Amino acid sequence: MKFEYVDCPVCGPSRTRIWLKEKSGARYVRCLDCDTVYASPRFPREVRHSNGDTVWDYTPELLARESLRLPALKQEADYIQRHSPGGRLLDVGCSSGDLFRFFAPSSWERYGVELSATAAEYASRTYDARVVPGTLRSAQFPDGYFDLVTMLDMLYLVDDPRAEMDEVKRILSPKGIVAIEIAGQAYMFLRSRGAVALLMERRWCRLTPDTHLYWFTPAGLQRLLENSGLRPFAWYVASSPVRPNPVSHWVASAYYRVYSSLAGRSLSMLNWAPRYLCLAGAPGAQP
Ligand SMILES: [Zn+2]
Repeated sequence: MKFEYVDCPVCGPSRTRIWLKEKSGARYVRCLDCDTVYASPRFPREVRHSNGDTVWDYTPELLARESLRLPALKQEADYIQRHSPGGRLLDVGCSSGDLFRFFAPSSWERYGVELSATAAEYASRTYDARVVPGTLRSAQFPDGYFDLVTMLDMLYLVDDPRAEMDEVKRILSPKGIVAIEIAGQAYMFLRSRGAVALLMERRWCRLTPDTHLYWFTPAGLQRLLENSGLRPFAWYVASSPVRPNPVSHWVASAYYRVYSSLAGRSLSMLNWAPRYLCLAGAPGAQP
């Protein structure tokens, strides 16, 4: 097996420390400059995607899983539309298209890209959206085409986040904004271990360098965006998906309530939030 070695997506070549070693030989390393944890070495793309893409295929199970996210998606759509009232929207990794429910066709022309062809087809059909199967970079949208690009819960999965952000900057209109939702790195790492992991239902955690390649801190995400000429101007704590187990749902909801009252105060606090939303645009373009 030939492994791929990659540099930190924020800093380029930098000093790292091994954070987790898998039996397969794949590893997570932590960049000592920006604290991004990323998979290197990792399986080459062909291997990672050999079964990965079908995980996202449109099936009744996928729809059921995603319906748990609807309250969080609605809340995030509300936050986003405070800053961006209408125009052309692109949802990257749109899956079955649930986010489109909250962007009215009277105000928004809706586009998506989705790795799974069956989910892309379902999203197009259900939400009258133009959804391209494939990746953001394979879709080749025109320069300055979109007023809003959303990337919810997916930045861990892209091959090259730096190139992805350059592409987002290229396709955004001068006043366009990008909305990125990711999990707090510290929160995810806490949740993946010991008693907390058991309480929070370990099967919800997908901490593996085989699929999830990057775990950013808020400060690291900010630097990633700035490297591509985008500047964050708003941060929000996002609510967690509804959990089937009432106890873990109660714990998650209580944690969310505490965090939404505290975490807006500093980027390092956001790192402990289950998920947060970062809005960014070209410097000077936002109020
Ligand atoms: Zn780094």
